[in-house]
Amino acid sequence: MATDLLALTLLKSPGELGASIAFGNSQRFGVPMGCGGPHAAFFAVKDELKKQMPGRLVGKSWDQYGVPTYRLALQTREQFIRREKATSNICTAQALLANVSAMYAVYHGPKGLKDIAMEVHKATVLLAEGLRLLGWTINNETVFDTIMISNGDISTDKIQRRCDEKKINICHYGDGLLYGVSLDETVIGSDLIDLLYVFGANEEEAASVLYSVSDADSNVSITGSGHERETPYLTHPVFNSYHSETKLLRYMKELENRDLSLCHSMIPLGSCTMKLNPTSALLPVSLPQFNTIHPYVPSNQTTGYQGLIDELESYLCSITGYDKFSFQPNSGAQGEYAGLCAILAYLRDKGEGQRDICLIPASAHGTNPASAIMAGLKVVEIPMNKEGEVTKDSFKQKIEEAGDKLATIMVTYPSTSGVFEDSIREVCDMVHYYGGQVYVDGANLNAQVGLCRPGDYGGDVSHLNLHKTFCIPHGGGGPGMGPIGVKAHLAPYLPGHPVTGPNPLKSFGTVSSAAWGSASIIPVSWAYILM
Ligand SMILES: *Cc1c(COP(=O)(O)O)cnc(C)c1O
Repeated sequence: MATDLLALTLLKSPGELGASIAFGNSQRFGVPMGCGGPHAAFFAVKDELKKQMPGRLVGKSWDQYGVPTYRLALQTREQFIRREKATSNICTAQALLANVSAMYAVYHGPKGLKDIAMEVHKATVLLAEGLRLLGWTINNETVFDTIMISNGDISTDKIQRRCDEKKINICHYGDGLLYGVSLDETVIGSDLIDLLYVFGANEEEAASVLYSVSDADSNVSITGSGHERETPYLTHPVFNSYHSETKLLRYMKELENRDLSLCHSMIPLGSCTMKLNPTSALLPVSLPQFNTIHPYVPSNQTTGYQGLIDELESYLCSITGYDKFSFQPNSGAQGEYAGLCAILAYLRDKGEGQRDICLIPASAHGTNPASAIMAGLKVVEIPMNKEGEVTKDSFKQKIEEAGDKLATIMVTYPSTSGVFEDSIREVCDMVHYYGGQVYVDGANLNAQVGLCRPGDYGGDVSHLNLHKTFCIPHGGGGPGMGPIGVKAHLAPYLPGHPVTGPNPLKSFGTVSSAAWGSASIIPVSWAYILM
């Protein structure tokens, strides 16, 4: 069941309604729109499904003194254990944003959240009743924050002109007859008056319409609908203790003091990850010009973003030797998936749909085999020798064995142990000779930037982890951005998105709900490269 966290403070929970799995996005718990992200999605399951969940589960037990303790139920990321049998390829997730949303809930608590939800809901009901008075039909039985509106006698052109005048975006459901409006906690009375004006009231009329309606006896209200929530939520003390800014500040500081960070010592993160994130590169994330934009606004409202992304694309092309980038993937693993899908679409288009083998060295990052399986490939592992190396000869043998079934190989360069193997060109040439494509895992491009370029030594596609090499903080596991670069022949097969026009014919599809993934952190990498 798709859910909305704020709505669930008023509505019966998915669990009570019999759902096995509930999922949704936590964006509206205090995370800016950011033209699409970053924000944390979530899913939750009934008890009997919890062992099938991917990732790290935290279990509660008791130590020898009877003190409650928390432990990781799965020791490490599951792709590192299960590899091609993993149930998910996700590694970098949205931990930082999950914490932002959690703190929003900690600060407001169950009662505060319900008050916010009720404000949003009341405003929506008032708008619905006002629109009815103006002669519109409301196409919902019960609403929370979104209404669908039809059958007015005012033209789409006029509505659009008035939207432009008031700087409001509404949803057009295509046929010019049905419109959608969603409200959030930032909406105030004058916004409702503006919306009534947009839908045909004149300026004076709009205010009097709003003051003449009431939410009390509305039949679209949740109150009295039978859907009202009666069960408690957020009963843990942490959600009921820190409802002033100073209390919250002290709680957060107390948590921060438990962190081992660059302020204290060298930090034990992988060699891959940027350890210093200059403040100046991070500033844009909190500027309203970047973070208040809805990802589905008309494209003439995102020309700044488009210019910035075009520039970043040209920098990344010159750094990597690739010809084109897609900024849709939100992480390295999602980039792997998208890149592999682009390769498969390209091969199918060439009439070589039988190619389904992906060769991956045993030393590869766990996401590689997990992504390959998700993309529908068969993983063949290339073993390491006693020294832990994958030799050119073992590559050669596996490439020959795969023959006309070879779709792609996924290589990490320099190798996972940090060695710039001098046979990389030969291996890439061999793959191309046998009709396959080369996926270079570019997560840790910092070892190559300015020294060599995957596009020069034989790569056809790579993801770059902007949250490793290009300075986006890793946030205890995210947010990330994993754009993929490709050589020109793969460009037509990159992900498409409805916001940037109908999917190009050859595109394999879409991997994110927003056209440029977590767009609002892209300025971090742009600024870092310029500096
Ligand atoms: C981090 C990493 C990945 C996965 O990237 P995520 O953004 O965590 O999904 C893939 N390959 C290598 C070599 C990595 O270091």
